[in-house]
Formats: sequence, structure tokens, C-alpha cells
Amino acid sequence: MRVADQLRHINERINEACNRSGRSPEDVTIIAVTKYVSTEKAQEAVDAGITSLGENRDAELARKQDVITGNPDWHFIGSLQSRKVKSVVDRVSYIHSLDRLSLAKEIEKRASDKVRCFVQVNTSLEPSKHGMKTEEVISFIRELSGFTNISVEGLMTMAPLTDDKELIRACFRELRDLRGRVQGLNQANAPCRELSMGMSNDYEIAVEEGATFIRIGSSLVGNETGGVNK
Ligand SMILES: *Cc1c(COP(=O)(O)O)cnc(C)c1O
Repeated sequence: MRVADQLRHINERINEACNRSGRSPEDVTIIAVTKYVSTEKAQEAVDAGITSLGENRDAELARKQDVITGNPDWHFIGSLQSRKVKSVVDRVSYIHSLDRLSLAKEIEKRASDKVRCFVQVNTSLEPSKHGMKTEEVISFIRELSGFTNISVEGLMTMAPLTDDKELIRACFRELRDLRGRVQGLNQANAPCRELSMGMSNDYEIAVEEGATFIRIGSSLVGNETGGVNK
């Protein structure tokens, strides 16, 4: 299975979801999540036209970044330990997992320039998922107002792994509603225009609900540990 073929198929489904919801496909960016796959596979994604890659481990990020050509944007998508911030912060264009003040402080301290962040929200309230509760987000973002190295570009969530499409949709809607409330703060370092939501199993619903970044791993580049795409 070639990445280019998978990408064509995914783009068709994004176009259809955009048609259903009156959106423009240019407003949706695919992040190829390459955490399960080799550097060669990640390079194949860039060569097929992908401009954003997502990784969730600092060492793997550095390893791939040092050899991949084509200058993609790098997104850190996993839970981020404070002690790893130093090795990640100047390597990535976006961090999708800002979920606590101690992490924000570490980013503020270590970054040499403004870091574009997503606040990760646990809309599904599954205890296994990272992220803050919806009702904590507004006061958290207010606390970040003096942080000169952090820009809250948007919100990120992971829907529950379920066949219940309406439950998934409700999580994505909750994130979009919350984005409106953050924008209402008119806080200079929190423009909050973006929604990072939707993965292999649920990206069409996410696009219908307003996702501007979708994070796709197994159905785009495969999962060499699980064998979707050898
Ligand atoms: C692994 C991962 C993805 C991609 O998952 P797939 O189901 O393989 O598309 C997306 N977002 C996050 C935060 C991840 O950890």
C-alpha cells in the first residue's frame, strides 16, 4: 500500500466531508503521524505532498528530523514530560499537548522563540486520556497571558475509541464551542483559530465539525508495529 494512494483516498473523503459541511478543503491540514513507522515511510509521505509530520517521542523526532528532506513542519503530538521540553521545543512548529501550568512554565523558560501550542482537552473524560477538563481551560489560558514564548494557536482533543458516532461528534463540538469562548477572551497570545481533532477512525466527523488539523497515522502511513500497512 503506497502512501500516495492512501493520501488520495483520504483527500477524497475530506473533500466529501467538506462538501457536506460547507467547508473548504484548504482549511484542513493533514498531519501524517509517523510515530509507528520508519523514516523511509515518513519520507514517502512528504514526497507524496504531506507538509506536516507528527511524532510523540523526542528521540524519534530528532532521528527522523535529521534525515528527512523537504522541510515539513514538525508537530509534537504526545504527552510531554517537562524534562523533555528542552530537547523538543526548538525542533517543532507546534506542540499539541499543552495540558498543565508546569509544562507551560517549562516551555516559556526553554524556548528561544514563540512556540505555537494547542491546549489539549479531555472532552471524552476517559481517565486514560491526557488533557485538561473543558471547564478548566478558560482560567488556564488566562494564566498564560503573560507568557511571551507561548501562543495558544488552538485546542486539541482525542475522541473516545467507540463506534458511537454521535458520542465522537459531541466531543468535537464541545471543542469547537470552547474555541469560541477562548476567542472571546481576546487575549493577545491566544488567537485560538485552530482545532486539532480527528484521527484515522474519526477524521471525517472531525472535518464536519470544523477540524483545521487532522492527525492521521495508521490509515495514511500504516502501523509497522500492528501491520495495517506493511
Ligand atoms: C497516534 C496518534 C494519532 C494517530 O492515530 P491513528 O489512529 O493511527 O490515526 C493521532 N493523535 C495522537 C495524539 C496520537 O497519539
